[in-house]
Amino acid sequence: MIPIHPRIEKLQPYVAGSRPEEGVRALKLNQNENRHPLSPKVEAAIRTLSPEMLQEYPDARCDRLREALSSVHGVPVSSILCGNGSSELITLLFRTFLREGDTVAVPDPTFALYANVADIAGVHVRAVPTDANFHMEPLALAAAAPQAVILANPNAPTGVCVTADRIEKLLQTYNGLVVIDEAYIDFAPDGTSVLGLTERYDHLLVLRTFSKAYSLSGARVGFAAGNKRLIDAMLKGRETFSVNGFAQLVAEAAVTDQAHKNEMVGRILSTRERFAASLQAAGWTVWPSTTNFMLVSPPPGSLVAQKVYEGLLARHIYVRYFAAPRLDDKLRISVGTDEDMDLLLDALLRIERGGDAAMNR
Ligand SMILES: *Cc1c(COP(=O)(O)O)cnc(C)c1O
Repeated sequence: MIPIHPRIEKLQPYVAGSRPEEGVRALKLNQNENRHPLSPKVEAAIRTLSPEMLQEYPDARCDRLREALSSVHGVPVSSILCGNGSSELITLLFRTFLREGDTVAVPDPTFALYANVADIAGVHVRAVPTDANFHMEPLALAAAAPQAVILANPNAPTGVCVTADRIEKLLQTYNGLVVIDEAYIDFAPDGTSVLGLTERYDHLLVLRTFSKAYSLSGARVGFAAGNKRLIDAMLKGRETFSVNGFAQLVAEAAVTDQAHKNEMVGRILSTRERFAASLQAAGWTVWPSTTNFMLVSPPPGSLVAQKVYEGLLARHIYVRYFAAPRLDDKLRISVGTDEDMDLLLDALLRIERGGDAAMNR
């Protein structure tokens, strides 16, 4: 028998939000995708896909995409590294900067992928509890780990963010690697991002993705920004051709249309507030969100969150339920279009009233 690596053998695999079966019409609000239309520039780029793009190797360094990112974000090209989603960059940063037996600190709760990647790398995870409102003081992470801290800002699945100046305080006193995952930054208030600090602090790495605000989850593109020394090290250890040519093309088109992205973000934020108000009017608890998803709890005395989740699933409506402490009485709902949220609200109210045919099967 071929031995399986013990770390893999005992690994708790990362569980992504589930996908509907092929051919089933479903309302997917469980992976924080953007359900609004793509930029016309992206649509145009899709039409230029040529056979050569499949026959030839892509540009391993994603130069055109990095140049586009550089001019939009004001960060040098040499400080940017693109990857197959930010998920790949999370794996790569562990491989590049952390050794077996090292410790990283993360808030609790947070994106479950960090602990999964750490387990694979043999790195210990210190999960530092957030307060009753899921708020995290970045400095509290510093005390928990000498080698690195990873903070999703805004955090998932809570939707809470901290201001950039609080992260800067951490950078000023902590010498380990500071990774700030800005997957949801486009939805957050001004003064949240630390992308602009990457040139000033050589131990800061910022992660961004095209999966959320840009509506390109399927293209699999993300990027890391940081000091050139960090980026060069990651370049050395990376998977050479991880971002395919088609993905590079659509991502480049997406960044060059900031106006479209901003417009879609604006729609999502107004839908979020409208939906939050409707839910609250129906007695639900809604945690304040700075992202394109919301953490919500059914009214006391009605069905528990897991039952609501199951009732929605029976109607082919997908939201996220986490069977974890502090989260198992809540649902995480991605903000879709106004029509999506009306459908969802209608389903929620029917399920609560118990008059739902799908529930009585
Ligand atoms: C969705 C998400 C990502 C993005 O992952 P990709 O691999 O780029 O699709 C990264 N971090 C967090 C916290 C997320 O929620």
